[in-house]
Amino acid sequence: MMKTSQHNIYLLGAPGTGKGTQSHNLSSFLNIPQISTGDMLRKMREKGDELGIRLASIMNRGDLVPDELVSELAKNRLEEEDCKKGFILDGFPRTKLQAEILDAFLNQKKFLPLFVILIDVPISDLQTRLSGRMSCPKCGRSYHQLYNSPKELGQCDFCLAKLVTRSDDDPVVIEQRIKNYLRETEPLVHYYFKKNAISRIDGSGQIQEVFERILASLSL
Ligand code: AMP
Repeated sequence: MMKTSQHNIYLLGAPGTGKGTQSHNLSSFLNIPQISTGDMLRKMREKGDELGIRLASIMNRGDLVPDELVSELAKNRLEEEDCKKGFILDGFPRTKLQAEILDAFLNQKKFLPLFVILIDVPISDLQTRLSGRMSCPKCGRSYHQLYNSPKELGQCDFCLAKLVTRSDDDPVVIEQRIKNYLRETEPLVHYYFKKNAISRIDGSGQIQEVFERILASLSL
């Protein structure tokens, strides 16, 4: 990666590849914001208003919310002051149209081009990785029954909040999320490859090992 003080990073990967965890760690390491459209949408869903109810029905099926809505959300967030020194996109873009909207926006606002990191994990591992997942509703940290269990069962190591399981981490919904990834999001690997802006890293192994691979791909 080009040496620059502005890191505009996009972590691309199937559900369950560790994008959220790695984005969180990278965000702390580089002191730049993590922009998770999934987190933003979950907050909107919690409001329970008309839009929240519509989002719940889409997200609880494991489907993608409309491109226009999620692109507006991401663009508005990227306009905020703290993104001027860089950002980490987690879960956006997820379709070719979203990627095109994002490119046009970054160009127009004179951001440096995106550096895309593909976290590669065999599709056959995703069900297991997603099934035992829990997260902290307060700080957003992720845990896993097998790979990254909390010190106390069901409790966040840092803020001691009770851990929750995401409603879409259910085997049938996971299946649908993986299908949508393969159909809509995986083609972005080719899209970014053509632009010469993608680095693939192996997402298997310990969280710290994967994190070090990410840092190496950024020449950090
Ligand atoms: P995530 O937390 O990234 O796994 O996202 C959770 C859910 O939010 C997804 O299954 C989608 O329903 C929705 N979502 C998040 N980001 C996007 C996006 N960029 N495009 C469409 N839907 C999204």
